[in-house]
Amino acid sequence: MLTADIRSRWLEFFGDRGHTVVPSASLVSDDPSLLFTVAGMVPFIPYLSGLVPAPYPRATSVQKCIRTLDIEEVGKTTRHGTFFQMNGNFSFGDYFKEGAIGYAWELLTKSESEGGLGFPERDLWVTVYEDDDEAIDIWKRVAGLPDARIQRRGKEDNYWSTGQPGPAGPCSEIYFDRGPAYGVEGGPVADENRYIEIWNLVFMQYLRGEGTSKTEFEILGELPRKNIDTGMGLERVAFLKQGVENLYEIDQVRPVLDRAAEISGRRYGAVHDDDVRMRVVADHVRSALMLMSDGVTPSNEGRGYILRRLLRRTVRSMRLLGVDTATMPELLTASRDAMKATYPEVSADFDRISRGAYAEEESFLRTLTGGTTILDTAVSSTKAGGASVLPGDTAFLLHDTYGFPIDLTLEIAEESGLAVDRVAFESLMAEQKQRAKADAKAKKLGITDLTVYSPFRALGETVFRGYDELEAEAPVL
Ligand code: ATP
Ligand code: MG
Ligand code: MG
Ligand code: MG
Repeated sequence: MLTADIRSRWLEFFGDRGHTVVPSASLVSDDPSLLFTVAGMVPFIPYLSGLVPAPYPRATSVQKCIRTLDIEEVGKTTRHGTFFQMNGNFSFGDYFKEGAIGYAWELLTKSESEGGLGFPERDLWVTVYEDDDEAIDIWKRVAGLPDARIQRRGKEDNYWSTGQPGPAGPCSEIYFDRGPAYGVEGGPVADENRYIEIWNLVFMQYLRGEGTSKTEFEILGELPRKNIDTGMGLERVAFLKQGVENLYEIDQVRPVLDRAAEISGRRYGAVHDDDVRMRVVADHVRSALMLMSDGVTPSNEGRGYILRRLLRRTVRSMRLLGVDTATMPELLTASRDAMKATYPEVSADFDRISRGAYAEEESFLRTLTGGTTILDTAVSSTKAGGASVLPGDTAFLLHDTYGFPIDLTLEIAEESGLAVDRVAFESLMAEQKQRAKADAKAKKLGITDLTVYSPFRALGETVFRGYDELEAEAPVL
């Protein structure tokens, strides 16, 4: 099943069941405080918050997402992309838990010939919030799931909240068991690599009040109008349905990986570190393509800086694969061809998109050359002084001021018979991280960038006047 087929199956399934099909919003919203769209629900926040009446009782979409918080996972886990597509179905005061669970189970287990995804029932596991007996009951009754494949989890994992007063509620997640070859028995609680999370069902059920942490807050009562927000990872389902090992090997991503292998002359599947690099390249090139398609250009701050990082990490990974010439023209073209069936704009706009990427690659290749010159000088003077260790502050300066990656410094130093003072380097890095963390603290909490939920704040402040009243007063868009 091609990724595009799964996507259209999804839209058709929910479209047939009364959901308005809403096109993906851009990766970048109008709200400049929000870096990127991180989930399918983001464009629906005004309706989910109740501040704006939803123009339809139920909706579905396949939303383009970027999660920079997952960047370090890419290529190492089987399931994290910086860009991915989140399939969502949403109910605005319409169906609730039973409907959401019923639809999810039906779509996942219905045979392919009947328009479903054809997952064998015995391979599906779910987690639920530990106190959500109602959900457990529905899973047993509607899906016929045995107790053994329903696992309870605490607030940390299975409770959704915006981090501020407003709507909140338990969630239930669906996992696919890849089998004993992939890890230990015992369900998702035991092993999240063997059991792959594919779908998160969020039940927006309660009104939360103030709290002191992600898991400590008071619940003020039930919401008069309850909402459903779900998110299924399209790439995750694609990788499981296509029988490949991870989401970098699906039809929309693999061609870039293969091109990286071809250009470098290294075989995918031969050396673990090389495999990770090829997967990073495949992921980052696609993310860069999609970001540039939505109008982001490389720069030194905000969204542009993330794009720059993705492009530079690509160049760096190719270099670690032994290629120090420009490869973006080939890689980007491969990604365009893999994505254009679903996103024709990446083709139509390719001249503009590629120009920015090629210029960035050229400039980074020059940075690398410049950094190498500085490093060569430092290496010579270290050796002339009779030392065998390159000072940590030199490595930090190269990294911080010249954008010269540490692994490259290590590599070049080693070629010259020098070690690098890693301890000093790491401690300078830690200091810098601490400074950056203090800056970001106000904005981020946990795994998701909570600034995404800021529109809920207005609701939290005024909500005691009543959800219905607010809805009645809210302007119609
Ligand atoms: P994980 O625990 O695997 O990091 P998550 O719990 O952070 O996933 P959710 O926030 O629940 O993910 O998002 C809903 C769905 O979107 C997930 O069930 C998954 O299928 C998909 N998804 C989330 N993050 C990614 C990603 N980085 N790449 C691909 N799919 C993702
Ligand atoms: Mg998870
Ligand atoms: Mg989840
Ligand atoms: Mg995650």
